[in-house]
Amino acid sequence: MLYFDHNATSPLHPAARQAWLDATERFIGNPSSLHRVGARADAALSEAREKLARILRCDALDLVFTSGATESANTVFHHAARTLAPDAEVWLSAIEHPCVAESARHHFPKRHRLIPVTRDGLVDLNWLAKALKRKGPGLLAVMAVNNETGVIQPTRNILALCRTHGIPFFCDAVQAIGKLPAVGLGDCDWVSGSAHKFGGPRGVGFLKCPAKGRIAPLLRGGMQEEGRRAGTENVPGVLAMVAALEARVQAMNTTALRTGFERQLLKSLPGATIVAVKSPRVWNAVLALMPEADCRTRWVVKLDKLGVAVSTGSACASGKEEPSPVLTAMGYSAAEAARALRFSAGWETTAGDWEKLLAALVQARREMRSA
Ligand code: PLP
Repeated sequence: MLYFDHNATSPLHPAARQAWLDATERFIGNPSSLHRVGARADAALSEAREKLARILRCDALDLVFTSGATESANTVFHHAARTLAPDAEVWLSAIEHPCVAESARHHFPKRHRLIPVTRDGLVDLNWLAKALKRKGPGLLAVMAVNNETGVIQPTRNILALCRTHGIPFFCDAVQAIGKLPAVGLGDCDWVSGSAHKFGGPRGVGFLKCPAKGRIAPLLRGGMQEEGRRAGTENVPGVLAMVAALEARVQAMNTTALRTGFERQLLKSLPGATIVAVKSPRVWNAVLALMPEADCRTRWVVKLDKLGVAVSTGSACASGKEEPSPVLTAMGYSAAEAARALRFSAGWETTAGDWEKLLAALVQARREMRSA
């Protein structure tokens, strides 16, 4: 099976698998236990925290291990709802992942505002700069890279605007971590990540919290993670996550294969278009509007039969009838959004794999037409 759905989840990196197996056997204790078996697990966890902090360029003490980015985002808005002034708003981009958008809506049903994006899928900086001059929010959230379009957001400029206006900034960096250098991430107040998006195991992630700040924990119970997240730490999961990330940051890919594929796709499938083609995008993802209207699930099923796994967009939104909120926010019609297919490669995807994907698309189209 040719796998082009790494933005949904990426297979375990061999280094992560090895780290997970080693940790499961070597660190059998509970990091909170006072005996040496527990202390060894605790020391391994601290070492992993230090390594992650070095990659993100932040203080290790500001990192909390979680079950993934969904928990991390929920923690941010849970904390905001308990600490911000009663009339404070939260602002988030109109293209955030549902774990951010739904948490914001849940905790701030009447006090959240969507920051518009351009047709090219970029947060509208002009709108933001103007709006902030009037009255700013108590928290502002913009993702680093969009999971559907792959567009790299101008988070450094947004962070600078937040600093000017004294607003805490939350960056969902799930689709950037391991794909782009982590420059500047450690400067954000809140940053979330999920291990399975870069070759770590599923069900483990992290949240970078404001420097030395206390947070209102989402999960209550024991005093793990300095009282910021209760529950016995997933030591093997964390060690595997950090091993995967260390492997990823050593070798970053370029956009060459993706752009070559895009050129060929537009030639081979007249009527297809690439979403956000003019914007800076990560090397691994292409969101295309296919030529035939209203049949993207047929494309996915057909390609699956031909041995290629792709998706119609965000895994969390698939199965829903409504058009993608991301494409809607970018100004695409429901009919256009219904033609969207996402191809997301992995770190080991070769030029040959991209060629096979193109050949499968051409064949799928031929078969669908003759049917
Ligand atoms: N944020 C983004 C941008 C994502 O792509 C995802 C997963 O699709 C998440 C958050 C949520 O990650 P998880 O499901 O691992 O909690």
